[in-house]
This record gives sequence, structure tokens and C-alpha cells, in this order.
Amino acid sequence: MKKTVLSWGKLHKYENEVIIPKNIKDINFDLKAKNFTFYGNGRSYGDVCLNKNGNIIYTNRFKKVRRFDTKKGIIEAEAGITFDEILKLCVPKGWFLPVTPGTKFVTLGGAIANDIHGKNHHQIGSFGSCIKKICLIKTNGQKKILSRNKNFNLFKLTISGLGLTGFIEWARIKLIPIKSSTMHVENIRFNNLDEYFLINNKSKKWPYTVAWFDNSAEGKNLGKGIFSRGYFLKDNNLEAHSSKKIIIIPKKFPGFLLNKFFIKIFNKLYWNRPAANKVFHTHYGNFFYPLDKIKNWNNLYGHRGFYQFQCIFPEKCAKNAIKEVLSKIKAYNMLSFLAVLKTHRKETSPGLNSFCICGTSIAIDLPNKKKDKTLKLLKDLEKSVLKFKGKINPSKDSTMSAKTYKKSYPNWIKLNKFKDPYLSSSFWKRVTKK
Ligand SMILES: Cc1cc2nc3c(=O)[nH]c(=O)nc-3n(C[C@H](O)[C@H](O)[C@H](O)COP(=O)(O)OP(=O)(O)OC[C@H]3O[C@@H](n4cnc5c(N)ncnc54)[C@H](O)[C@@H]3O)c2cc1C
Repeated sequence: MKKTVLSWGKLHKYENEVIIPKNIKDINFDLKAKNFTFYGNGRSYGDVCLNKNGNIIYTNRFKKVRRFDTKKGIIEAEAGITFDEILKLCVPKGWFLPVTPGTKFVTLGGAIANDIHGKNHHQIGSFGSCIKKICLIKTNGQKKILSRNKNFNLFKLTISGLGLTGFIEWARIKLIPIKSSTMHVENIRFNNLDEYFLINNKSKKWPYTVAWFDNSAEGKNLGKGIFSRGYFLKDNNLEAHSSKKIIIIPKKFPGFLLNKFFIKIFNKLYWNRPAANKVFHTHYGNFFYPLDKIKNWNNLYGHRGFYQFQCIFPEKCAKNAIKEVLSKIKAYNMLSFLAVLKTHRKETSPGLNSFCICGTSIAIDLPNKKKDKTLKLLKDLEKSVLKFKGKINPSKDSTMSAKTYKKSYPNWIKLNKFKDPYLSSSFWKRVTKK
């Protein structure tokens, strides 16, 4: 079946031969072009789940929960299940996902392939740290069980393996116990990056931390924003999140409405709202997934789509590096309403090509401007990443050069060696180009 395939940033629209199998036996690797990419829920912003001139295999119909040990908090499920579905099942039983990204609409397979991280990376590391077992199917039909004790090399390469080692059929993960679905949250305003780092240093014992920043601020207010930290309460109220959407953004939303004027006003109002400096209790759905309440918020950027730039810098140079990144974005006169800082510990996940290192990451959405304006900025930011020995997140990326990728992910060579010969992606072709 021919279908137009997009990822979250809506930058590329490829017409692909698409396979949407219901059963494992329906997966057909016999198509003429021996060139396949798995597609979970397309929540990657760039092209890790895209395949120009190749075939796409959707994995989101594989949702069966094979086993759920409610005493030990171990769940084994097919890789097309989403975090949304896992949470609905496990929260009422007093369990939570050990690591979750800023949306619950990712699949288990996508979370493993990108070794996603959350607001608690400074405490427990990336998603790979809680994976007990993976069942992998190669395109030649061979099935392999991977764990810390069995096929360890392939285990380490499949976690953060960008879907290139084979089809993740199912995985077994260890959940974390919770005694409430409500969280205690503290929001604290900070006036610049120096203040951010001070508050952050005092918050290292908090299980969850994250900061939003206003990238229209400049001068002595460069990097001003709102620091959020939180933990789960213990009131035995275990209610899973609601699926209600407050707003739906139509497909043909005129992107020009999200202009500099609007973003400046939004950022001002967001920073000044009373909740920006407040202690309160709220459901985990509000703390972890505020954007999930807006259906298709990626349409806000119009038909040209948008980039998300996320990079991470080592602890010792993070402040200077982030100052440089923010100054460059300012120099290009680019504004964003979604800009986030997070702290990271030394990685605990066994993934050999994981994004996180001990330091600070910065993520910012950037509209795809005409005349390659955004592309030029991204190339400039890439230079800062190389200069400060940082890394760019593949799950967000659409533009990183082969030189930068190979330098910052030296284990790509091992992945290339263990890669299934029929699997690839637009991302992989770009970053491994000779
Ligand atoms: C609003 C928003 C917030 C986000 N916040 C964060 C965050 O805080 N932290 C973070 O780390 N990421 C974050 N992300 C990125 C997102 O978590 C990752 O891109 C995630 O991998 C997407 O999962 P997916 O199921 O949609 O997979 P896709 O995007 O469809 O695919 C991702 C990769 O997984 C592979 N894949 C999928 N299923 C399988 C399978 N069964 N077998 C083999 N390979 C497979 C694909 O080939 C591809 O390489 C965010 C994304 C959005 C939209």
C-alpha cells in the first residue's frame, strides 16, 4: 500500500510502500527494495523513522500485554503498545514507567530504539536502564532473546539502536512503585542561566526536574525561565490520566499566526502567570504531558513544519556552551515558545549509542523558515556542539552531518557492524554517508 509518511516535525513527506501488519507472520520482508524502516508512532521529530525511497513497516498494531506481574512491577508487552496504554494499566495497580518522555504517545519499541530519557535522568538514567529482556526478529526470520546475560552485545546495540538491529517484537521492563498519581510540584522563576544552575544544583535530590526558558529574553536576563521540580505524593489515590484534549489544532493551521509577536506575548504571559512561582499538587498527566492535551500541536507551525534542536553538553562546560547556543539563536532572531533545559547524570543505560551524557541538555523548537534561515542556524549550532564536545539527539534531528554524528557517537561503527542488512532509515543514510 502506498502512503505518505511524516514524522512529528512534518518537514519531510515521503510516499512509501507501507506495510501495516496485524500479526508477526504478516511482516513481509520480501518486497523488491530490501530497504525497511520501522515506524512506531512517529513521535520522533526528524527522520529516524522515515525512509526516502524505501519501505515502512508500522508496528503500532502489536500491543498485546504478554505478562504483568503486579507484585513485582514487571511488564512484558509487544513493542507497539504506547506509554499511554501502559500507564492506564499500571497506574491503578501502583506502578509507573521508570522513564517517560514529554509525551505518552510513544511506543515501547520507539522508546527502546531511541533510548529515551525523561525529567529524572539525573537520578536514574535513560529508558534502557530498566529493560530486562528484548525479543528481536531479524529480517531473515531469526528470533533472538536479548538481555544482560544473553546476546549482551546485541542488547546494548538494540537499546539506542535506532531500529536498525531488527524488529523489536516485545520487551520486558521493570516499573517503579508509586503510592499516588498526584504530584507535589514546585515552580520557581529564575532570571538568567546563572540562577538556573544555582537552583538546579540545589534540586539534585528531587526525583523530577526540568526548566522551561524564555528565549526572547536577552542581556542580563539571557536564559530566564521557570524551574519545575516534583515528586509523587503518597495518598493512595491511584487514578490514571484522562485522555481529554482541551484544544485540537487543525491540519491546515496557518503557520504565520505563530509569529514573533505572538511568541513574545505568550512567553511573557507564561512567565508572569501565578503558577510560575508556586507550590501545588497536580496529576502526573499535567506535570509530565502538558502538550498531550493539545491534539496535533505540531500543526501550529503550518505546512512548512519545524525542527527541534536538542543537544547535550558535558557538565564542566555546559553553562558556557548553552550561553553560546542561546546567543546564536538570538543573533538569528529566532523565537520559540517551547524551550527546555534538563540535567543528566552519567548514563546508566547499557545502550551503546544513547544520547545522554553527564551534563545539561537544551531543546528548542524552531519553525522551518524560508530561504534556509533555520538550516543555517542549525549548521551554526552544530559547530558549537562540536566545539564543546556535545551531542545532538538523533530522535529530534533532521540535519546533523555525518562528520558530527561519527565524532559524537563513536560506537556507530559497532551498530553498523551489527545492523540488519535490510534495515535503514533516512537518518542513517545521512549520518553514515562517506
Ligand atoms: C512532545 C514530544 C516530547 C518528547 N519528549 C522527549 C523527551 O523528553 N525525551 C526523549 O528522549 N524523547 C522525547 N521525545 C522524542 C520521542 O520520545 C522519541 O522520538 C520516541 O522514540 C518516539 O517513539 P515512537 O514510538 O513514536 O517511535 P518512532 O518515532 O515512530 O520511531 C523511532 C525509532 O524507533 C524505531 N522503532 C519503532 N518501533 C520499533 C520496533 N518495534 N522495532 C524496532 N525499531 C522500532 C524506528 O525505526 C525509529 O528508528 C518527544 C517527542 C515529542 C513529540
